[in-house]
Amino acid sequence: MDFQYEVKDTGSEEVLGYFYLDLHPRDGKHSHACCGPIQQGCLDDKGKRQKAVVVLICNFPRPTADRPSLLSHDDVVTMFHEFGHAMHGICSRAETPLFYGTRVQADFLEAPSQMLENWCYEKEALRLMSKHYKVRHAADFTFTHYEKNSQRICVQTVSHLSLDGRDAAG
Ligand SMILES: [Zn+2]
Repeated sequence: MDFQYEVKDTGSEEVLGYFYLDLHPRDGKHSHACCGPIQQGCLDDKGKRQKAVVVLICNFPRPTADRPSLLSHDDVVTMFHEFGHAMHGICSRAETPLFYGTRVQADFLEAPSQMLENWCYEKEALRLMSKHYKVRHAADFTFTHYEKNSQRICVQTVSHLSLDGRDAAG
């Protein structure tokens, strides 16, 4: 695993759950992206609430000695999609595992992920979440074609985009 994160409710300071990031390919790892539970956020066999723990598994390019892991726009969309599943699991307050997390009606299963994906098509959101990996200031996105409803986008500088902070260095 690359990193472990704790998720807190900002109002109550209650820890809601945890997630792990497994971002890069390695021998024996499957090649698709997914999100899965390690521990379900529901009541245990004694009726005590256990914290949700999920893992987000992706296969983004590994960083090299002279550059961080640079993400394509498709990679960013994948990250946000899977993070939507992660938040769905962490925010789930089920009584039993039967109703935990993504065990919902099929037409709602992808809704949290699709909501998060929408941020990947907002210029301001991309500016807030990223930096140019060499000059460390907000990437200067030039949208050459933008059709949000059809989910198509071209971002000229996206090949120089890296997620900021520890993710990029990992
Ligand atoms: Zn999905």
